[in-house]
Amino acid sequence: MKHVMSAEVEVVAPETGIASVLERMNRLSISCLPVVDGRTPVGVISERDVVRSLAEHLCHGESLPATAAELMSGPPVTVRAEASADEAVALTHEHRIRRLVVVDEQGELVGLVTQSDIVEAQTLMVTEERNLLETRVEERTHDLRVFADRLEHMSLVDPMLGTGNRRAMERELERLQGVVNRYHRGFAVVIFDIDEFKKYNDHYGHPEGDAVLCEVAAACQEAIRNTDLLYRYGGEEFLVTMPETGLEGARDAAERIRQAIEALGLPHVESEHGIVTVSLGVATASPEDSTLAWPDLVSRADGALYRAKQSGRNRTCSHEA
Ligand code: GH3
Ligand code: MG
Ligand code: MG
Repeated sequence: MKHVMSAEVEVVAPETGIASVLERMNRLSISCLPVVDGRTPVGVISERDVVRSLAEHLCHGESLPATAAELMSGPPVTVRAEASADEAVALTHEHRIRRLVVVDEQGELVGLVTQSDIVEAQTLMVTEERNLLETRVEERTHDLRVFADRLEHMSLVDPMLGTGNRRAMERELERLQGVVNRYHRGFAVVIFDIDEFKKYNDHYGHPEGDAVLCEVAAACQEAIRNTDLLYRYGGEEFLVTMPETGLEGARDAAERIRQAIEALGLPHVESEHGIVTVSLGVATASPEDSTLAWPDLVSRADGALYRAKQSGRNRTCSHEA
């Protein structure tokens, strides 16, 4: 209540003469005047009290009250300064009054509240609660969006290599196939696989094998264009999508990848070449070939990769239509 009450309250002592009380109420246009003994409220003089005693005097010949104490109604209905608007509303309803005397912990008068002050407090409270709720909803929505984005990212990225995973790869191939069908723009895929990787693991250990996978992925990432995307197809196999790339361009890009990995010079004593190498298969979807489904294109690249393995590894083969 302390936020909405009027703290500047006109008060009178119980022994104040009635003429002085009425003069003050009239001059200051006060409809409710608390009567205090020291700072302790002992009653309230309202317009209703004035009308009542006037009526008793004029209609029933009773004598007029001489002091504030005789005119007032009391004891007053008080509300604590810390009370909520709901508590105050309950008090006004219970006692059918429009004003409450506000008191502190010692029961001393600190202010006066009217029903409209209380309604204002309730409105303020509701507005504050609504604002708080809106802020919370906004914060939650933002958190959920961040979380959903993180989940989406996690579901599409290979945790060890940071490249797209097979799910992301399938999504991109689907998209590129749509581009062929709708806009008649072709694309290429390159699949590559680390040569003799089982022997590498057996000789150097699995953790070393993991490190090689990371270096191979990073070297490939460096060698390809920004628009080309690298995915981990499975185990030690990768796939690169190359939008708007024909057979010749894809073959050149595949060779760049092969050379970049060869240039790492990662020792592999169990391999024929003495270093880590990859074999690559290339296939293209031509702009006119709108009947080709992407899994068939991947199969073609896989077939070319198989031939690269068969013909000595560390080389690129392509599917020729
Ligand atoms: P090829 O030249 O014909 O490809 O022979 P390869 O030994 O590379 O092929 P193979 O399919 O026989 O073996 C693949 C190996 O790749 C076996 C598997 O343990 C290893 N590998 C697959 N995924 C991982 C991985 O995440 N980390 C490590 N260290 N090794 C992996
Ligand atoms: Mg292999
Ligand atoms: Mg393999």
